Amino acid sequence: MTTKFQSQSRVWENRNILIINSPDISSPDSFKGRFQRTTGGGPHVILMVIPIGSFSKKDEDLLETLRKTFGTKVFEHMFILLTREEDRHQSTEMLKDRDDSLNSLKKCKNKKFSNYKAVGEEEQQQVDQLLQELVILTQQNANKPCAMVKEDTLSIVLVGRGGTGKSATGNTILRRTAFPSHLSAQSVTKTCQSGKEKWGKQEVVVVDTPSLLLVPNDSEGPSQLVEEVQRCSYYCEGNKILFVLVFQLGRFTQVDQSVLVQLEKIFGEKVKEYTIVLFTRKEDLGGDSIEDYIESVDCNALRNTVEECGRRFWAFNNRESGESGETQVTALLTMANELIKSHNGLGYSFTLDEIIQRIKDMRSVQEKSKNKSQKQDSRNRPKKTVPNIFGERSYK
Ligand code: GDP
Ligand code: MG
Repeated sequence: MTTKFQSQSRVWENRNILIINSPDISSPDSFKGRFQRTTGGGPHVILMVIPIGSFSKKDEDLLETLRKTFGTKVFEHMFILLTREEDRHQSTEMLKDRDDSLNSLKKCKNKKFSNYKAVGEEEQQQVDQLLQELVILTQQNANKPCAMVKEDTLSIVLVGRGGTGKSATGNTILRRTAFPSHLSAQSVTKTCQSGKEKWGKQEVVVVDTPSLLLVPNDSEGPSQLVEEVQRCSYYCEGNKILFVLVFQLGRFTQVDQSVLVQLEKIFGEKVKEYTIVLFTRKEDLGGDSIEDYIESVDCNALRNTVEECGRRFWAFNNRESGESGETQVTALLTMANELIKSHNGLGYSFTLDEIIQRIKDMRSVQEKSKNKSQKQDSRNRPKKTVPNIFGERSYK
């Protein structure tokens, strides 16, 4: 078994090829330092070798390590080599059921089979074919290596009710129209998306989300909520992850009120220690300050939410451009970096396994209460009035 990084080079068709054989890389931190010492700039291709039919949880963890180390672009540089082609006939079903159904592998478009036992000319042929494909992949990536995620990268996840201005806020932070944003009765953002930009020396990743309260977590069929949260986690880069809870100034609905609770149910109670509240439509304040607004607003639920998030709040006018548009972003990023500093340089850390378990628990609670109410109905008891959580209340 390989226990440390080893490298060898060879010349193939006038190209110098450096091949790095890696040991089992389960912990991203130790992996990063060791890998950097071996490769410098980063690899052009990451060749993931999996014997057919044996993709396991360990391989999932390995992919997660690679994603955390290189960011989401790692899949553009990845080539999966499924070995033991000689077993392919016996394992076709297994491959279909296990390997191909795994989301992580689906993200990687480049797949190839190889036969361990090939010898002589056949062996040479499969090596040539593979190297040819790896060169094509490198060219598709403009001959650029896959660089590691910068230590300082900040990932901001925008959450909140549909229509509060999350996508517009994301565009303001990224200084470009990365996410569609417009007034609509239906939520415009259906699925998580991300964008990345540099602010000074820092890379900032913005993850735009649909309203997580409205993503189905049905008892029948796969949970779309799990899929969405997986996608969200997949887009976050580095270990400085924060949440920005977006509200529209002057409008705090019952849905808005439930958003923080939902966020805690999914990501865990500590998530609010890593959350900043952001109000959009700052222009509606006239010349007043957002602090004065929070102090005087006739809405305890809003004030409680702000308190729960450690009184970290800011306001954006997403229609503002130019210097004052930039100033509001700089202030938010300063607040975000201060928050990271207060947590010893780390953002919110979560594992997908924990989150999936929480979502499953939410599902079984929903299922139980559904069964209970069905039983009550069948006994012809008078129905309870269910509060309409989507009911809205405006205030000034
Ligand atoms: P999302 O559903 O939370 O992503 O909300 P959108 O980003 O799609 O925004 C909904 C509507 O609010 C759009 O028409 C935006 O242009 C508008 N909007 C967002 N932020 C502001 C703001 O700061 N000022 C004004 N006037 N409109 C805004
Ligand atoms: Mg949106």
